[in-house]
Amino acid sequence: MHRKSEKTLVILKPDSIQRGLIGEIISRFERAGLKMIGVKLVVPTAAMAEKHYTTDPEWIMKTGRKSIEAYKKNGKKPPSDNPEEVGKKVLNNLKHYLTCGPVVVMAWRGIHAVGVIRKLVGSTEPLSSDVGTIRGDYTIDSYEIADLDGRAVRNLIHASGTEDEAEKEISLWFKKDEIIKYNLVSERILYDINLDGILE
Ligand code: GDP
Ligand code: MG
Repeated sequence: MHRKSEKTLVILKPDSIQRGLIGEIISRFERAGLKMIGVKLVVPTAAMAEKHYTTDPEWIMKTGRKSIEAYKKNGKKPPSDNPEEVGKKVLNNLKHYLTCGPVVVMAWRGIHAVGVIRKLVGSTEPLSSDVGTIRGDYTIDSYEIADLDGRAVRNLIHASGTEDEAEKEISLWFKKDEIIKYNLVSERILYDINLDGILE
């Protein structure tokens, strides 16, 4: 498959909507040359939020390990050394975070869509996300404060981590006919091999 047809799933979490950042975030993806192929405004149920994070059966363990590492890197003692326990706690907090209000769910398509959007989004913790990224530019939160308050890190946005994750997440949030196949005029420049369609 040519990578110009790579797809990814994005969720603008409730804090994005409340902060008036829908347009700002979408424009960053448009500007990069990606194409929106599906969009909806929903208030997720707890069951949907849980399904979303557990489409990857490894997610709980991976997230637990990542969280424990983050504590140790910052010289802090993790709440437990058991990744499953820590991962489940994160999942529980996320269910509350994602269900507290409307979110915008979107599917995007284009060259390296997964990697490009992850790069624009930035790393998980806003405190350490790079300047210039969505999580680095538009919010501030840290594992330390989130843990102190017993909640998920508020980082505005979800973006699929791999093509496989994207595939599963898109089919979870969208019916087949809600994903639109169409051409964007800008793709003629982005993907044309010879650039021979410009001059008359
Ligand atoms: P992402 O792919 O960068 O969003 O990160 P993950 O898939 O690892 O985690 C999903 C979401 O869970 C993140 O976007 C955060 O909102 C939250 N989260 C992840 N790890 C932690 C953690 O160690 N502590 C807290 N409080 N929240 C976390
Ligand atoms: Mg993730």
